[in-house]
Amino acid sequence: MLKKLFQSFRTPLRKPQQHTRTTPEVLNGSQHSLQRNQFSRYAVSIVERLQNAGYQAYLVGGCVRDLMLGITPKDFDVATSATPEQVRAEFRNARIIGRRFKLVHIHFGREIIEVATFRANHPQDEEDEDSNQSSRNESGRILRDNVYGTLEEDAQRRDFTINALYYDPVTERVLDYANGVHDIRNRLIRLIGDPQQRYKEDPVRMLRAVRFAAKLDFGIEKHSATPIRPLAPMLRDIPAARLFEEVLKLFLSGYAEPSFEMLVDLELFEPLFPASSKALEYNPTYTHTLISEALANTDLRVKQNKPVTPAFLFAALLWPALPARVLRLQERGMPPIPAMQEAAHELIAEQCQRIAIPKRFTMPIREIWDMQERLPRRSGKRADLLLDNPRFRAGYDFLLLRESAGEETDGLGDWWTEYQDANEAGRRDMIRDLGNKSETGQGPRKRRRSGGGKRKRAGADASE
Ligand code: ATP
Ligand code: MG
Repeated sequence: MLKKLFQSFRTPLRKPQQHTRTTPEVLNGSQHSLQRNQFSRYAVSIVERLQNAGYQAYLVGGCVRDLMLGITPKDFDVATSATPEQVRAEFRNARIIGRRFKLVHIHFGREIIEVATFRANHPQDEEDEDSNQSSRNESGRILRDNVYGTLEEDAQRRDFTINALYYDPVTERVLDYANGVHDIRNRLIRLIGDPQQRYKEDPVRMLRAVRFAAKLDFGIEKHSATPIRPLAPMLRDIPAARLFEEVLKLFLSGYAEPSFEMLVDLELFEPLFPASSKALEYNPTYTHTLISEALANTDLRVKQNKPVTPAFLFAALLWPALPARVLRLQERGMPPIPAMQEAAHELIAEQCQRIAIPKRFTMPIREIWDMQERLPRRSGKRADLLLDNPRFRAGYDFLLLRESAGEETDGLGDWWTEYQDANEAGRRDMIRDLGNKSETGQGPRKRRRSGGGKRKRAGADASE
């Protein structure tokens, strides 16, 4: 069925529509707002040096786009006609790195400037068997991509029009091959070329469309938005390690909450988080509240420059998918605690098929979940032992998150808030008060308030 759906969308590869021009619109210094000194001086000096050596070189991508919008760029990318080897020959502090593409990283202390050689779009009609440098799979996805090209070709192979602006800090001119300035003014994310084909070449562009729309508060232009839902399942074929990187960019850049809403709306959430997507279907209010609250608080922390950890985020994203699994195992006769542990194990293993969450994060995810089992058990010395546990803070934050999504915990979050604020004697009283109540702290409890028992906000904090 899915295969059929796919096939109906598979069109023969053909030349992209010429949304780019071969002669760019040139904006001189008085026609745009960019100032040379807004760019990293290291990036500017790299461009100057490459130009002096006889190559073409420009600042490009996110830094030009963001500065045009008055946003401080995250990093500075340089595009040049020099090959990676030629770039390396010019700079002592340069290293060629080869992930999907061969790039050069030039190091200046802690700042790294990424220098990319102009690349061409791919031979559209036939697979390029001979060159062995660029190739696609049968659905049009580009598998290798190291074909160098001209500046014009480089503009054309970029994803969105707003990402294809080239700034020359020497002449202070902007080259606009794809009407990017127009789309910046109209706040639109628009793919260069035929959207369906460009998404098929690299389905991750669908996630990038969402990321930029959320970050910049732009709309996705109609023709660039329409193919996303039918092509969303193509994300299943993207290597899980690349998706991990992309998901981190989506969720740890300060715009996770609007990104999540858009991912769900465009049906991109399902191929990334299949189990959570099911939970969203069966238990929409709780699941949606828990995830969006976790993401909103994470966004707040990012904006306040507080550290955030992917573990808390993934713990929240996956938590709503746990109960159904625990239940299934219990129905097969497994006792509650082993069922919970087995469900956690299964869920994480399954999720890692889609998004390769590294071990250094999957461990703390499980510990945050384990904490949820332990936080109700407070009698004797248990509360103090828990408080000393390095994972306590994350576990407590997670408990508050569950409560704010509507989970019933019999005031457990307030109890822990109060306990942390209480002095030694107060704490002893609180434990004694648990008294004859069951170990799990169920049942009515006298409300106590002691000094400044303010609930802390839940979010992806630094409790790694
Ligand atoms: P930011 O760095 O703020 O996340 P950016 O636009 O600089 O945004 P990068 O991932 O750093 O994004 O990529 C740099 C540039 O490379 C982009 O602006 C775009 O022109 C091009 N690019 C990146 N990924 C792709 C892709 N998958 N397909 C086509 N072009 C891409
Ligand atoms: Mg960038």
